[in-house]
Amino acid sequence: MKRPKRVESVVTYKNWISEKAIKISIDHVRPQEVPFEAGQFISLRVGEGKYRAYSICSNPGDIRKMDLVADAKHMGVGASYIRNLKLGDIVNFIGPSGKFRLRIPFAENLHFFSTGTGIAPFIAMFHELAFRKYQGKIRLYHGIRHKNDALFLTALHNFRESLPCFDYQIYVSQDENCDKYNQGRITNVLSALEKGDNSHYYLCGNPNMVMEVKRSLLDKGIRENQIFFEGFTYAVS
Ligand SMILES: Cc1cc2nc3c(=O)[nH]c(=O)nc-3n(C[C@H](O)[C@H](O)[C@H](O)COP(=O)(O)OP(=O)(O)OC[C@H]3O[C@@H](n4cnc5c(N)ncnc54)[C@H](O)[C@@H]3O)c2cc1C
Repeated sequence: MKRPKRVESVVTYKNWISEKAIKISIDHVRPQEVPFEAGQFISLRVGEGKYRAYSICSNPGDIRKMDLVADAKHMGVGASYIRNLKLGDIVNFIGPSGKFRLRIPFAENLHFFSTGTGIAPFIAMFHELAFRKYQGKIRLYHGIRHKNDALFLTALHNFRESLPCFDYQIYVSQDENCDKYNQGRITNVLSALEKGDNSHYYLCGNPNMVMEVKRSLLDKGIRENQIFFEGFTYAVS
């Protein structure tokens, strides 16, 4: 497990990648290399004594930089800080942190459930699986409210090329007549999901979704030690 340290980095990319989310890339300055495991997060300094958790969504093979994706439309200290960042700005963080990571040995089937920016750590995990030439089946079920909230569509498309058995389904819960994606919530897939002994289940995003999916998986007879999760709880300060 990579241990957290204090890091100073410079913003090299910033863009809105959906109606609600901004992606930033940072290059590390001090130290210049920060190894991390796919699934970990950083605590970004967003004000005097204020830190906010953001998962790393870049390829863990590149330890000189990190990508983050943040919900940035709401009125929060972290959201406003990220909205106001400019290219060349220096940012400070403590990290990497967290124990949410791919479990080795890998199971034959990997199921990923995410909502919103909860997809972020999975993008890093898919890079890791591609690097390790994982041959098993990967299914991502990703929930968003509106079709314009979709994230990482190009990356997901590319993972279909770099991973032999990768597929994903996007569920839109609040737009009707959306022919591009499935209508409804990702919990819709649970009833049809086969109980697999050689499967691992990763859940990330809205804490209510995480708890609901976890409960349903346990009800199906899936064991607790097959399920790994991270709830994107809001900061309290
Ligand atoms: C381990 C971990 C990893 C995380 N990774 C990410 C990540 O990669 N990307 C990401 O966007 N978030 C991530 N989060 C969630 C993020 O840290 C919180 O949403 C945080 O509260 C945002 O801080 P803020 O200062 O913008 O809002 P706060 O000051 O904490 O909250 C201000 C107000 O905004 C509301 N609010 C907070 N967050 C949201 C939101 N996302 N959407 C709508 N309203 C909100 C709060 O309820 C409150 O009313 C992660 C959380 C954890 C625990």
